[in-house]
Amino acid sequence: MPAHSETTSRQLRPTAWGAALLAGFITQLLLILFVTLIALQQLGVTTDNLNAVVDVHMRKQNLTKTMLNVARERTLIMLTLTKIGDPFERDDLLTQFNEKGTEYAVARQSLQDMPLSPRERKLITLQQQLIKIAQPIQTQVIDLISTQHNLEAEQIAITRAIPTQNQVLAVLFQLDAETQHVALAASRKAYEAQKVARFWMYLLCGAALLVGVIVAAVVLRYTTRISREREHLAIHDALTGLPNRRLLLEYLEQALAHARRNKTLIGVLFIDLDNFKRVNDTLGHAVGDQLICHVARRLRAAVRNEDIVARLGGDEFVVVISDVHAASQVLHVVDKILAVMVAPYQIAERELFNSCSVGIGVYPTDGTSSSDLLKNADTAMYHAKSSGKNRYHLYDAAMNAMAEEQLQLDTDLHYALERNEFVFHYQPQVNLNSGRTDTVEALIRWNHPDKGLLSPAAFLDMLEDTGEIIPVGRKLLGTACAQGARWHAAGFNDLSVAINVSSKEFWHQDLLANVHDALERSGLPPRSLQLELTEGILMGDMDVAVHKILDLKAMGVSIAIDDFGTGYSSLAHLKRFPLDVLKIDRYFIKDIRHDSVNEALVISILALCNGLNLDTVAEGVETRSQLDVLRKIGCPVVQGYLISRPVPADDVMALLQRDWLQELDLHSETPA
Ligand code: C2E
Ligand code: CA
Ligand code: CA
Repeated sequence: MPAHSETTSRQLRPTAWGAALLAGFITQLLLILFVTLIALQQLGVTTDNLNAVVDVHMRKQNLTKTMLNVARERTLIMLTLTKIGDPFERDDLLTQFNEKGTEYAVARQSLQDMPLSPRERKLITLQQQLIKIAQPIQTQVIDLISTQHNLEAEQIAITRAIPTQNQVLAVLFQLDAETQHVALAASRKAYEAQKVARFWMYLLCGAALLVGVIVAAVVLRYTTRISREREHLAIHDALTGLPNRRLLLEYLEQALAHARRNKTLIGVLFIDLDNFKRVNDTLGHAVGDQLICHVARRLRAAVRNEDIVARLGGDEFVVVISDVHAASQVLHVVDKILAVMVAPYQIAERELFNSCSVGIGVYPTDGTSSSDLLKNADTAMYHAKSSGKNRYHLYDAAMNAMAEEQLQLDTDLHYALERNEFVFHYQPQVNLNSGRTDTVEALIRWNHPDKGLLSPAAFLDMLEDTGEIIPVGRKLLGTACAQGARWHAAGFNDLSVAINVSSKEFWHQDLLANVHDALERSGLPPRSLQLELTEGILMGDMDVAVHKILDLKAMGVSIAIDDFGTGYSSLAHLKRFPLDVLKIDRYFIKDIRHDSVNEALVISILALCNGLNLDTVAEGVETRSQLDVLRKIGCPVVQGYLISRPVPADDVMALLQRDWLQELDLHSETPA
């Protein structure tokens, strides 16, 4: 089941793409997050390191302060010692003095072990040199105190020991200021460095995120476009862009559902080019491809927008015509397709000729499923090919026969006029007051060599479509007038002949001339010719119609409006036209006896006709009861099978001689 698996893969593909994309996007986000975390951690480490640097400077400062304090205290102890006589107290202070010395030495050693700036190192060296000078003096003072020469000791302390000690203190002050300065500079530098680092980190992370989002958006757009293109390719023919078999089946299913709901027909046309293989073999595939594209365009142009044109591959196309109400509509399209396909193709600077064979399947007669319809249309196409190409074949045998018959009739109709196969039959219109035939209506018949007498329903549309109604009408007008003149000569000089004029005939420029001609040639008095027009004519260009009717009337002929009530004209509308007779359509007469609405309608039509001074004829009177109602309501003239069917000219005389009051036994009754 390839169709099925294709459908599945089609459904899976976009989802898989989406999932892959989402996974990629999430991975990227995680990576950015990871990078940010690492950067933050690195920043933390840097901060710690800088903190450590600041810490060193703090410790240096503390040591300097210790040295300073200890030096001050030693000076103070030394001075106090010169004043104390108590030997215990003196020993105590001496111990303190020595301990402070050790403390000083330890602090200085610690300071020296630390990383120092050149200026710090210089100050420490200076301090050491001064200590070297101060130490022997202090030792001398302590010795003098130990030997109880306090006065002398005091003298030396004040004059020599304390000043040198002060020099040491001054240097230590400088050192303190220097370490403080260095510590401050270091912490400021650390802070600045951290600020710069943070700025760059934020900038880079932000940029990375932005780039990530942009990349994701671009990738997303690109992949959706690709998947859309893939989707399109999967259901369209690459060469022509037309739907392929898969999409065709989808469309056809929709059309079938629609047709089922609306009870309409669908025409499925299977189209195959007749000489494609030859074109491909002799002129090459490139030319063959171009031909296919041309054919695709012509097919598309030949049908309505809502119809489907698909390519199944090779030189096979399918056209689906939906919303059809009669199979003839389908045949109409097929005729058009066959016609456009045979026009020459301009390909690669040469003129190519090709035709096609069409197989037709119609829903629901030839199948109710898409597969059946396609299969049967395909079968029909093979029939069309085998019976000589450049033609169509219907799958349904009965329809085929009908279509063939229609085709044959079409051809025969071309020759009917020159072979004099058209004749008139005449149907009397009887006046119910006099019982006489006032008028006979001429109705066309085709005396077909094989089929016998055909009524207008079988061929009139074709005559109209081909425009042949014009020459045929002209000829018959002459025939009818000549026949009328013959009846006049036989003594029926009050008889009128009514002739039907289709809208195409009415609007034709030659109408007046033709009427004039026929009257003159036959010698029939114009008042004995009546032209029956349909309502549709009066609904056209009103001014022109009125003019034309006036011209006809000026010639002396009378005008009847035929099939009244089936169109859209109202009596008010009719008032504008100079008419003589109104023929009430058969539809209103049919059940006039049972339908009080129709009866009322006919009564009002009669009343209005009286007012407008129009003669009224009831058409299609078939039964005695219809006649009785019509007589009762005062309808003056009737026409219909009850009186007589349309008969050949030779049988008319017999009808004209009859007294219909007697025939219909109407003498005894008095009309209302
Ligand atoms: P229409 O002008 O309405 O002609 C009356 C039609 O009703 C005729 O059909 C006639 O045979 C039929 N008819 C008459 N009495 C009865 C009846 O009692 N019951 C029934 N059921 N039918 C009755 P026909 O001859 O088949 O003509 C059909 C139509 O063809 C005419 O309708 C007219 O519109 C057209 N037509 C006929 N001859 C000509 C012609 O020479 N030229 C043109 N342009 N149209 C014509
Ligand atoms: Ca008529
Ligand atoms: Ca009629």
